[in-house]
Amino acid sequence: MIVTVGPNVDPSLVRAALIEHGLWVRRFDGLDAVQFFIEPMSPSVARETILKIEGVVDVAVSSPSTPRLDAHPSTLDVGGVAIGAGAAPVLMAGPCSVETEEQIHSLASEVARAGGSFLRGGAFKPRTSPYDFQGHGQSALRWLRTAADQHHLRVVTEALQPSDAPLVAEYADLVQVGSRNMHNAPLLRAVGATHRPVLLKRGMAATVDEWLFAAETLLLHGAQGVVLCERGIRGFETSTRFTLDIAAVALIAHVHHLPIIVDPSHAAGRRDLIPALCDASIAAGAAGVMVESHDRPGCALSDGPQAISPETLSMIGARMFARTPGGREPHVSNSSLRSCVA
Ligand code: PEP
Ligand code: MN
Repeated sequence: MIVTVGPNVDPSLVRAALIEHGLWVRRFDGLDAVQFFIEPMSPSVARETILKIEGVVDVAVSSPSTPRLDAHPSTLDVGGVAIGAGAAPVLMAGPCSVETEEQIHSLASEVARAGGSFLRGGAFKPRTSPYDFQGHGQSALRWLRTAADQHHLRVVTEALQPSDAPLVAEYADLVQVGSRNMHNAPLLRAVGATHRPVLLKRGMAATVDEWLFAAETLLLHGAQGVVLCERGIRGFETSTRFTLDIAAVALIAHVHHLPIIVDPSHAAGRRDLIPALCDASIAAGAAGVMVESHDRPGCALSDGPQAISPETLSMIGARMFARTPGGREPHVSNSSLRSCVA
């Protein structure tokens, strides 16, 4: 927003009034008028409210760049499970890859026992090495669905390429777009066109804005809704697999008011940190977590070092559900800082 001050008006009075509304302002002295640029991290204040400030002659508002996301609810219903603000935290868990029919059945029962509501597992695996296990494809989708249904769980699983999207959508309640594909516009269009809710993982080198534009693309092409998933970004740190951007979680939850969950497994890459990162995620405003678990983590066909045992999963569930419903701390709005203006 750009606020223009009228002639013969003391700009400092307008500035003080803007700051009273909790807005962060930057002043420009133009040839014809003084203007105040409202910084994007400011709380949202209606244009009409600002126009009422004495001395303001114009308020220019740029059109929203993500109109569908701006209108997105802060809580999304996925297969009867509410994900987002005010809802109980959601636990999604399962193996990195669906390895066998027996394995997914046994893990589904552990996920349900821990209080989970979604069974995860890759049928199509985006592996860093082309020689690593690539997933069992449609058979894995079938096993996943049957196991989830038996334990009253929903299914979240990844679509890897546009041609797989309709098939994955047939089996999944929540279609996952993985980190490596967040920028893949043809896949976003194809997944959107299935009209399913989508779990959009953050690209490992994506800014929050790029992530939000990918979410907008999904909605534009028909996705029923989007749940964002922070899974760690690439920085200079090597002692964890990626760097979990907990500030982005708070930003998406408390400023953008969108449903967001955290995947601490891919972020940390090591199982010993997962319980602590689950706690941190919920405290920051995440609507839930998605964790990789395995009955025999040492034998996992993919991502064994980050897989937690069923016992640890139960402990995480117990800790998560012991919190107050919603799990969100009250957000401190920028406007509460207004007392700095004397
Ligand atoms: C996954 O969740 O199975 C996965 C591959 O994660 P990411 O896309 O975050 O690497
Ligand atoms: Mn994995």
